[in-house]
Amino acid sequence: KEEKSLNFLEEIIDKDLRSGKYDQIVTRFPPEPNGYLHIGHASSICLNFGLTKKFPGYTNLRFDDTNPTTEDTEYVESIKNDIRWLGFEWKNELFASDYFDTLYGYAIQLIEKGLAYVEDSSSEEIALLKGTPTEPGKNSPYRDRSIAENLALFAQMKEGVFPDGSKTLRAKIDMAHTNMLMRDPILYRVKHAHHHRTGDAWCIYPMYDFAHGQSDSLETVTHSLCTLEFMPHRELYNWLIEQLGIYPSRQIEFARRNLNYTVTSKRKLLQLVKEGHVTGWDDPRMPTISGLRRRGYTPHSIVDFCDRIGVARRENMIDVGLLEFCIREDLNKLATRRMVVLDPLKVVITNFPEGQTEWLTSENNPEMVDSGDRLVPFTREIFIERDDFMEVPAKKYFRLAPGKMVRLKSAYIIQCDDFVKDENGEVVQVNCSLIENSKSGSDTSGINVKGTLHWVSTTEGLPMEIRLYDRLFAVEDAAGQEGDFKDYLNPHSLQVIEAIGEPALKDAVEGESFQFLRKGYFTKDKDSSPERLVFNRTVTLRDNWAK
Ligand code: ATP
Ligand code: MG
Ligand code: MG
Repeated sequence: KEEKSLNFLEEIIDKDLRSGKYDQIVTRFPPEPNGYLHIGHASSICLNFGLTKKFPGYTNLRFDDTNPTTEDTEYVESIKNDIRWLGFEWKNELFASDYFDTLYGYAIQLIEKGLAYVEDSSSEEIALLKGTPTEPGKNSPYRDRSIAENLALFAQMKEGVFPDGSKTLRAKIDMAHTNMLMRDPILYRVKHAHHHRTGDAWCIYPMYDFAHGQSDSLETVTHSLCTLEFMPHRELYNWLIEQLGIYPSRQIEFARRNLNYTVTSKRKLLQLVKEGHVTGWDDPRMPTISGLRRRGYTPHSIVDFCDRIGVARRENMIDVGLLEFCIREDLNKLATRRMVVLDPLKVVITNFPEGQTEWLTSENNPEMVDSGDRLVPFTREIFIERDDFMEVPAKKYFRLAPGKMVRLKSAYIIQCDDFVKDENGEVVQVNCSLIENSKSGSDTSGINVKGTLHWVSTTEGLPMEIRLYDRLFAVEDAAGQEGDFKDYLNPHSLQVIEAIGEPALKDAVEGESFQFLRKGYFTKDKDSSPERLVFNRTVTLRDNWAK
């Protein structure tokens, strides 16, 4: 069997294992519980969990919850649910907030070593003294406080003596450092805010840079994978680990994955939810895992997509067409076939008796062995799609037209005899006759027709609501446009229509996927009730969007 070549992360790990640096690796997926996971997170999940499937070791789930004001337990639960749904299981469930005591102790160690000080300047003053990438910064007037004074002030910060924003703890590194992040970065800030797990126990909170690497280290994470924007943070990550003398985790950067025609930022997605541009985090138009699930995406299709895009060192935009390709591939094999008419036009089979119902057999899925059959009711009046009839047929139009024949799927060949128009000149009824001995499976008519149409009985069919989705944004890169990204929302991203489907669909369960013949893949939505079926279109059968 041919081995797929290793990507750059796998190469690093392979080398570390071969050299004996590690016996096993430890990775982590570190979401901040401030929103629902999106497709970019799925890529990071597949990466982190995928590496420990491929190599000996395990992956932890760590909630990076050091921002009390944006985080919530609702998000913690949704994140766990989404990871499990994708098919991954973590070794340990951890929270950065569980390390608040330890981190506080680390801060004291730094103060005692003369490597951290309490700053009284405001954030504006700190920014002014920071310098620019080409000019060195200036030392703060509080930089040379004694160790004793720093210890006392830091203790008071923790006790709640100072208001928000009045004091910070800063690392004492180098205000002339070429890396701006090394110019005495802030380690702690005062924030009197309730935390989703620690409640009101703390009024100082560690900054990302003073929590992430330390948490990695406490968990003996060997390879800490993060997105490219953290590249300049690596120097600080290593500096803190070295000064504290703790387990040396290694940060390695990879490129963030962005999908076109959507946004992959929890902050932006939260705005869409809060401002009512979508119905919620699980709106089927959202690029969230919960939105994709409700839309009808399978875990396998998402993991397949993430495997196909792999990892990269440079940022690039991925075409949503690839994601759609992956779900089509999966659903073509799995989805049960049903007939639903989205834009009905009545057809009367004039030589079929009124009031009679013939139950015809149709296979559930030709791509799947043993998928079985279901019965479909055939009656004198049926619906076909409006665009499956043309009064004056175009060239190579093999569907219904005056004098032409078509096959009705799993039923008979019919011939169009005439049609009826309303006062506006719109065709409202097509009259056809059924060809004797042309029943599917026992056709002895000897007639060959090119077109096969799906259809539904007008009297036995089920009315249903269908939600057709289009791109959430009208442009490929809404986040990269001038002005507000929300100005680029696609006003036609949702179309709700009334359709009629075959009666077997009343047994559909929520989340079940179907191929509506010739129309695409659909799934039953949670808004369905016993009185009313609602289906979401997951994706069309072919990519007929880009024009
Ligand atoms: P967002 O801007 O959406 O909030 P984030 O990076 O702040 O993204 P985190 O909750 O911190 O969100 O992300 C958890 C993990 O997922 C991090 O390791 C992060 O690097 C990774 N991740 C987030 N977005 C993407 C993306 N678009 N592509 C790949 N990995 C991502
Ligand atoms: Mg983050
Ligand atoms: Mg974020």
